[in-house]
Amino acid sequence: MSDVIPLTSVGSAQEPFKESACKTHPQTMCPAFGALRVLTRLEGAQPTMITDTGCLYGLTFVTHFYAARKSIVAPTLGTAELSSGQIQEAANAAIAEAASERNVSVIPVISLCVAETAGLSEELLPREVDGKPVVLVRVPAYAIHSHPEAKDVAIAALMRRFMETETTAEPNTLVLLGEVFPADPVMIDGLLRKMGARVLVTIPGRHLDEIRIASRGAAVAALHPFYRDSLACMREHGVAVVGGAPIGADGSAAWIRAVGAALELDDATVEQVAAEEEQTARDFLARQSLKGATVLVSGYEGNEMLYARLLIEGGAHVPYVSTSIGQTLHTAADEAWLKARGTEAVVYRKSLEDDKKAMAHWNFDLVIGTTSTTAAAKELGIPSVYYTNILSVRPLFLTGGMIASISMVQELLERRPIYEKMQSFFEG
Ligand code: SF4
Repeated sequence: MSDVIPLTSVGSAQEPFKESACKTHPQTMCPAFGALRVLTRLEGAQPTMITDTGCLYGLTFVTHFYAARKSIVAPTLGTAELSSGQIQEAANAAIAEAASERNVSVIPVISLCVAETAGLSEELLPREVDGKPVVLVRVPAYAIHSHPEAKDVAIAALMRRFMETETTAEPNTLVLLGEVFPADPVMIDGLLRKMGARVLVTIPGRHLDEIRIASRGAAVAALHPFYRDSLACMREHGVAVVGGAPIGADGSAAWIRAVGAALELDDATVEQVAAEEEQTARDFLARQSLKGATVLVSGYEGNEMLYARLLIEGGAHVPYVSTSIGQTLHTAADEAWLKARGTEAVVYRKSLEDDKKAMAHWNFDLVIGTTSTTAAAKELGIPSVYYTNILSVRPLFLTGGMIASISMVQELLERRPIYEKMQSFFEG
């Protein structure tokens, strides 16, 4: 156990924290990026984007930067084209162009703010061109407010089109839903095999066939809480839904039992595996402690509450968690768990202003946040790291994920003197 973490927290201020009233501006890159990320990574997919030139420029840039090196086909839609009411014809021409590209097996049509406002009609789009299916994915930012939720919309659109109806569920198989670190599904599969079950497939993936394979799952588990539409599709398909995620000691044990119940596995074996996993996690927690550290968690990935849970189990105080996703039934359990353990504010549809207010409200030893939040924290001399870079490069689930994440936070907390030195250097 480490006792050397420098601590400066003084606990909560007297007045309850109040989040900002304005929730209309997501303050992230265009939410449609989430859908594009999923769709451009699909082999054989030729994304076709229906929007105006400005959106196209920005989204092409982020897609090449963060997602896949794949061209996006798009019609030219400036003021002249839009005001002449030619959007449907322009969309159909772009789809035809996409179909003529080499090695194309599916054409996702991504309809953004401009196309939705101008009234792009699904009924007037072709359902397929030259045998290549055309799938409309509607992700205008005024309806889909965050890029995690746009991922969900894209996956659900693929599921509605490609899940097979004439299938029989493969016993003891679990479909995982979530963009996760590659080691996570491997560790989860290893654990399931101890109970006589296995991971059937992890979605989103690189192949359309994976959506078809998911049709045969006996149960599905969303590892992140924003896969609302995709879970609804699976449920309509008759696939049992497992709630929550295998996060930390508490969460993993509960999740293992929920999987056992959904797959109707042997109770005694499930109980033994759950108890072993929980004990291993608790043994690790007994040796590591973030006790006394106050941490802010803020992001636009949609899994911020899971991460906050790990930190709290590690002994940290996490009074404030903010996320870009909206509040749903799927976020309720994590929010309740956090609030029962000292989290005073869980902010959905967060803004930078919310995070800055939180930094004025509590004294943080570490800020794990978005680019703008961490920049604001650094100006205050608080150690801070970019949420996405920290999370995407390490596992998160089961004991393995917990060890990777808590050890990293322990190390970050020890950097406080460096930040204070930096602040005093620039002030001087
Ligand atoms: S107008 Fe809509 S689609 Fe275009 S960049 Fe902005 S949020 Fe994205």
